[in-house]
Amino acid sequence: MNKLTSKQIVSYQTQLEALQQALTNTNKISDEASAVVELDQTRQGRLSRMDALQGQAMSKAVVARRQQQLTEIKLALKRIEMGEYGYCQQCDEQIARQRLDINPAVRLCIKCAD
Ligand SMILES: [Zn+2]
Repeated sequence: MNKLTSKQIVSYQTQLEALQQALTNTNKISDEASAVVELDQTRQGRLSRMDALQGQAMSKAVVARRQQQLTEIKLALKRIEMGEYGYCQQCDEQIARQRLDINPAVRLCIKCAD
């Protein structure tokens, strides 16, 4: 398999940075949204406690997933910086381009991910 060219790496870096920016913005927006929901609840008391708890648990899971994605993106950017980008974190084999195209923050080759 051919090594990634610096041009290709820059293109993945750009994608990762755009993704990071988008996720950070979404986090901000949902923070504001949940603040609004809390306000509505105290004012109107429409939502039952169960509904509120369920909604809270769901948005917590969403936020946790987003946080996880952000961490993976940060690590991928770090690997670019270190010149280690595109290699499997487990076996050091090169990760297939198609795999990086789907998720530029991917850490494992297809064999290790299985
Ligand atoms: Zn591997």
